[in-house]
Amino acid sequence: MLKTKIADIRKEVLQWKKEGLSVGLVPTMGALHQGHLSLIKQSLKKCDRTVVSVFVNPIQFGPAEDLDKYPRTLEADLELCKNAGVDIVFAPSQNEMYENTPHPNPPPQGGREQSRLSNDFFTYVIPPFFYTDKLCGKSRPGHFDGVCTVVMKLFNIVQPDYAFFGQKDAQQLVIIRKMVQDLNIPIEIVSCPIVRDENGLALSSRNQYLSEEGRKQALVLNKILTNIRACYNKGIQDVKALGETAFAFLNEHHELEYLEFVDKNTLENKTKADDDTLVLIAVKTDNVRLIDNCFMK
Ligand code: AMP
Repeated sequence: MLKTKIADIRKEVLQWKKEGLSVGLVPTMGALHQGHLSLIKQSLKKCDRTVVSVFVNPIQFGPAEDLDKYPRTLEADLELCKNAGVDIVFAPSQNEMYENTPHPNPPPQGGREQSRLSNDFFTYVIPPFFYTDKLCGKSRPGHFDGVCTVVMKLFNIVQPDYAFFGQKDAQQLVIIRKMVQDLNIPIEIVSCPIVRDENGLALSSRNQYLSEEGRKQALVLNKILTNIRACYNKGIQDVKALGETAFAFLNEHHELEYLEFVDKNTLENKTKADDDTLVLIAVKTDNVRLIDNCFMK
C-alpha cells in the first residue's frame, strides 16, 4: 500500500479511473492521530478508493520553524492506515516532490518569501494577500504559499474526485477552497469537524511537544472559545466585548498571538458577531504554538 514515486501512484489511480471508481485524497504531514483518522474515515465512506499522503512539506515551514524536529512516524502511520482500510499511502521523499527537476535549486523553506531572497527557479501557487496576511499568515509569512503549492501538486499527482481537510486549520481550509474556486480545480473539498481529546484539547501532531503541565495550560484555547460562544448565545454580539472575556482565562503561561472574529467564508473581520462568524485563536504555551477555532453557530 505504500507508494513513494509519483509515477507509481499515477499508474494505480489511472487504473481506478478506468474502472470508474471515485478517489478520495487526505493530505497530511504524518504523525497521524484520531483527527487525521476522522478525515480518513470520511473519505473511506464517501469514495471507492482512498489515498492518504504523508509529506512534511519543507516550503510551508519558515526558516526558524520546527521542520527538523517535526514528528515523523511513518511505520505507525502505515499501520494506522492499513487498519483503517486505506488503499494507498503516498509518502514521497523531498527529492521526489521538489528536487527531481532540471534546475539546480530546490525551493527553500518559507515559500516564495524566501525564494525571492535566494533566487530559486520554482513555480508557486500564491493565494491572495487578503486571505494570507492575517491570522496565522501574519506570524508565518509564506506559509500558505507553501501549503497551496504542495496541495496543488498533490491534486495534480493524485487527481482525486474529493479531498478532505480538517476544520482544525480553518484559515487553510478557506484558502484551499478559494484556490479551487479561482483556478477551476475539478475536486470537491470536504471539510471535517475538529476532533478533541477528552479534555477538549484539539488534537494536533504538535501536542507531542507539550509537557504534562503544558497540556493543562493548553486547554485555555477551547475554554476561551466555549465561553465566547456561550456569551454570544446570551446575546452579546459586540466583538470587542466578546474578545475581552478571554482575559479571565489567560495567565503568565500563555502568550496570546491572536483572537479574531471573521466571516467564515471570506475571512473578513467582523465588528459585530453573527451566525456566520468564525472565531480563531492562537496561543503559545510551553513553547508550543497552538491554534483552535469555532463557529458561533
Ligand atoms: P497536518 O498533518 O497537521 O497537516 O493535518 C492534516 C489534515 O488533518 C489537515 O486537513 C488538518 O486540518 C487535519 N487535522 C489535523 N488535526 C485535526 C483535528 N484535531 N481534527 C480534525 N482534523 C484535523
